[in-house]
Amino acid sequence: MLIVGAGFAGLYQLYRAREMGLRTRVLEAGDGVGGTWFWNRYPGARCDVESLDYSYSFSPELEQEWSWSERYAPQEEILRYINHVADRFSLRPDIQLNTRVTAASFEDEEGQWEVTTEAGERFAATYLVMATGALSLPQRPKLDGLGSFAGAVYHSAQWPKEGVDFTGKRVAVIGTGSSGVQMTPVIAEQAAQLTVFQRTANFSVPAHNVAFTPEALRAAKARYPERRILGREAITGQFLNANTKTAAEMTDEEKLAELEYRWKGAGGGFRMLRTFADQMSNEQTNRMVAEFVRAKIRAKIKDPRKAELLCPRDNLPFGAKRLSVDSHYYETFNRDNVDIVDVQATPIVAATPHGLRTTEREYDFDAVIFATGFDAMTGALLAIDIRGSGGVPLRERWKDGPVAYLGLGIAGYPNMFVIAGPGSPSVLSNVVHSIETHVDWIMRLIRRMYADGLKRVEATREAEAGWVQLCADEADKTLYTRANSWYVGANIPGKPRVFMAFVSGVPTYRRIIERVEANDYEGFKFASDAQSGELVRSSTACANTRSGNHHARRQ
Ligand SMILES: Cc1cc2nc3c(=O)[nH]c(=O)nc-3n(C[C@H](O)[C@H](O)[C@H](O)COP(=O)(O)OP(=O)(O)OC[C@H]3O[C@@H](n4cnc5c(N)ncnc54)[C@H](O)[C@@H]3O)c2cc1C
Repeated sequence: MLIVGAGFAGLYQLYRAREMGLRTRVLEAGDGVGGTWFWNRYPGARCDVESLDYSYSFSPELEQEWSWSERYAPQEEILRYINHVADRFSLRPDIQLNTRVTAASFEDEEGQWEVTTEAGERFAATYLVMATGALSLPQRPKLDGLGSFAGAVYHSAQWPKEGVDFTGKRVAVIGTGSSGVQMTPVIAEQAAQLTVFQRTANFSVPAHNVAFTPEALRAAKARYPERRILGREAITGQFLNANTKTAAEMTDEEKLAELEYRWKGAGGGFRMLRTFADQMSNEQTNRMVAEFVRAKIRAKIKDPRKAELLCPRDNLPFGAKRLSVDSHYYETFNRDNVDIVDVQATPIVAATPHGLRTTEREYDFDAVIFATGFDAMTGALLAIDIRGSGGVPLRERWKDGPVAYLGLGIAGYPNMFVIAGPGSPSVLSNVVHSIETHVDWIMRLIRRMYADGLKRVEATREAEAGWVQLCADEADKTLYTRANSWYVGANIPGKPRVFMAFVSGVPTYRRIIERVEANDYEGFKFASDAQSGELVRSSTACANTRSGNHHARRQ
């Protein structure tokens, strides 16, 4: 098995494949393991799913021996954790660093994958697992004149390992997604002047991050098994204490109490998304939550001009763009050295030798930071020239948007699996939980193939089309599709507008993939010899989220 990527997904896949006895190698572009947490070293970087949940669950010993220092661990601690995992499970000998995969093609004659790296190395593999990450290809908008800028230029996801000292510097942050929101308060403390360039105001909710006391951590660890079970049954794979009532089922006082309860920290992060059961499907309910949060934002910012700019507009449903989780983001704009520029009103037209020019004026800077996010979900996969059976390029198959059955397998790409990619809960979930779910499922499938003497597996076109349709239908029932977010590829010019994640939640998704497995892997076809692809077992049925029935769906 060849695994591309050494983040949370690649390491766990390696662990499980080796456990089964597969000869396995991980190829990783970076010079260290950790993926997201290796690359995103910007000031203030930390997880926004609580660390007790945003961590591996496969080893109770690991759970007990590792101690998180804070509710939301900072980047360097998460990176230390992942390195600890690599050492503890002796994973390093099978990981090849500094190795960027540029191409992968399924060779029909040999019945195996041939993988090529940037340095021209070639590898052959029976199974290819793409653990390349949903948020790993940084997006840096084209900016005229950037080469002439005399100051320093950074991207949040390609941050220098040695860190950057902004003391006394004039700094521009472009972008107000999660990374911009996390770095702004920290850089503001150092910089002489910080100017944040915002295209769209998004909602951010307070993290209420705290350091763990030894007692609190001990108590949490003692309840780990229960915590994981609750997480598995929560829509995002993290216990949310979700309110099961719709807004209409509550009195005004109850609604307000629920909102305040979540805002004050009993919620935090994703939990604010579960204030009401119908919050992401009912416009009226969503508007009520949005109004509540807008009022909270306004109350934090003294300058009415800044407050108005930072308040998300009416046309953005709450949570339809990835919710940011912050520590004093809005309060930071009360500092005299921090300002905000609306680039919808006054777009940045170019970089100059001294800074940035908008349609309105010139700004002088010593450093410009792009916190402009990623070509999400598909970027890292399509950066590789992947060709399936018959030489069909994935870039061609996905030109109208990603298609994959259960988000796991792609028709025409035998023995290739994608972890936490498009068509799965992925970025709408606690991703570590989703990774474990995917890897465990893939390994059960491979074990089954060995037991049955099968060499080749691939999704059928019918099942794939059915799944893609289902994902689209489910997304259309929600407010997620209303926003110009990276969930729909809107941050990348020319990217097809498709809602790329499975929206109906982690437990529903898991039940579906488990049912597929129980039903003899319906929607997959198998062959006993990898070359011919001769079919020995197949089902054109496709899973249905709501019922236990299987419907054959039309293309
Ligand atoms: C700043 C930030 C904060 C986040 N916080 C959270 C959070 O709180 N909770 C949450 O659930 N999720 C969070 N995420 C999402 C996060 O990406 C996932 O949680 C998780 O880390 C993904 O792990 P992964 O192994 O799938 O991918 P990654 O960690 O992205 O690892 C993929 C690896 O593949 C490598 N790679 C890619 N292409 C190639 C190639 N062609 N050749 C060789 N190597 C390649 C990359 O270098 C990278 O190391 C966050 C993301 C970011 C960017």
